[in-house]
Amino acid sequence: MSESTEAGATDADTRVRPLRVRPGVRYQCQGAGLCCTDIHAIGELSKKEAAKLRLVDERVVQYSDAIEGFVMAMDPGGRCYFLGDDDLCALHAPMGGALKPYACHRFPIGLVATPEGGRVTTEHRCPCRTMGERPELTVEGATPALRDPSGQVRTAFHVDQVPLTRDHEVSFARYVEEAETPFREALQMAEDPADAFDVAPFGALTGEGVTWERIATGMVEIEGTTRADEARRYFGDAIRAFHGGRAGRRKRPWAGAFDRVEEKTPVPTGTPTEMYRDWIEDAVWNLYWTSYCSFAQLRRELVTRLWVARHIERRLRRSKLRADRAAAEAIFIVDLIGTSDWWEPVAHRFVER
Ligand code: SF4
Repeated sequence: MSESTEAGATDADTRVRPLRVRPGVRYQCQGAGLCCTDIHAIGELSKKEAAKLRLVDERVVQYSDAIEGFVMAMDPGGRCYFLGDDDLCALHAPMGGALKPYACHRFPIGLVATPEGGRVTTEHRCPCRTMGERPELTVEGATPALRDPSGQVRTAFHVDQVPLTRDHEVSFARYVEEAETPFREALQMAEDPADAFDVAPFGALTGEGVTWERIATGMVEIEGTTRADEARRYFGDAIRAFHGGRAGRRKRPWAGAFDRVEEKTPVPTGTPTEMYRDWIEDAVWNLYWTSYCSFAQLRRELVTRLWVARHIERRLRRSKLRADRAAAEAIFIVDLIGTSDWWEPVAHRFVER
């Protein structure tokens, strides 16, 4: 497979162009509807978008202290007010989708600017990214989602220097050559993705009084009934399981979204091992981790999340879920919680060696 690229960089876009899609990424919106629920805050909405949406319905927008901006409000069932009973967005078609917020238009596709161009990223919390018949994503296919309302491809996230360890930063080119490429090659070669990491899951954390038991307790005992809260409890249960603890009874309020995609996929399109490898590749490729941990810490936290995902997959398979479906739900949980305020401070506390 060759890497999909777009030529024609302009001076203004030197870190965004050429756009680059990681080889092997597959995605097709299958109308799961999960992205329009309380798995995450949906936004940030611009002030203009918020004002327009409020004209349609006062309830649909709220201010989020967490992101210090406007986001879509959720109805009492934890769904966007515009998500219909058919699980389709009521704003998608009318007026050519002019009222649909940019953040919705874009998800699960993202972009990070680097000295070698813009890396197109995808989020694996979306079952349409992990399951089902999906064409390979190309630059041409991704570009419409990346254009803002003015038609510009833009990103707020730039990476120039990369921390290999907490006190050793290198240029982006050196990071790719010395760290990322060898890791990706090892991941492709390894029969078991866990073998590509030369570290074990969990392990020591820095910080006085910071223990896995306390982290798990914080995740499991959180109050709240959103889909994100329940996903966090699954994650906390897995941490406890690694350390000999027992899991509580849990609901899966996201199951309907996975049912919809599974119904359209009578034959699995990938094995759990392939799905985990794909997720790990993207978790490294998106460079988002550079904002809170080093590459050395990333290896430890990713092999830990892989362990958590596999534990959740086994747990779900005991409920007779199909293997790819169980893996997709497990990846949804570790992808969602792994980029949350709960996990990022933990990733920052992994001892590097
Ligand atoms: S506006 Fe449409 S796409 Fe955006 S969250 Fe609501 S239903 Fe989903």
